Amino acid sequence: MSGETHPQVSPESSPQISPETSAQTSPQASHPASPRVSPYATGLTGRCPCCGKASMFSGLLTLASVCPKCGLDYSFADAGDGPAIFVMTIAGFIVVGFGGWLEFTYQPPYWVHVAVLLPFTVLVCIGLLRPTKGLLVALQYANKAEEGRQAQ
Ligand SMILES: [Zn+2]
Repeated sequence: MSGETHPQVSPESSPQISPETSAQTSPQASHPASPRVSPYATGLTGRCPCCGKASMFSGLLTLASVCPKCGLDYSFADAGDGPAIFVMTIAGFIVVGFGGWLEFTYQPPYWVHVAVLLPFTVLVCIGLLRPTKGLLVALQYANKAEEGRQAQ
């Protein structure tokens, strides 16, 4: 948390990496040893998992290419279908629970269910997707998880 920073630069722009050191480094060597900020705090709020200062998103769900504050290269990040799976499961409980409560409390006509639950479902899913994706990317960074590679 001090002024000391470990700027993450891509290999082609890093002049310090000599051939012998780059041969010894693992594919994950571009990541620092451990994040100095909680992956849960940064992930759920969509901030950079390395410095925790800037947003990791450039759009609603689009990741930035690099962190504007610390330069972390987000090319490692691949949450894949993970956010969708978690959001489908969690949103299912929320929407079905709310629909059941609506039915048993007010017994409205079916069109009310459609008119209320369809937009509610969209809002719940969009509201959950960004923090879920942020959390998965931050945990991927913290745990250095990435696609498997074959040994040379
Ligand atoms: Zn950063």
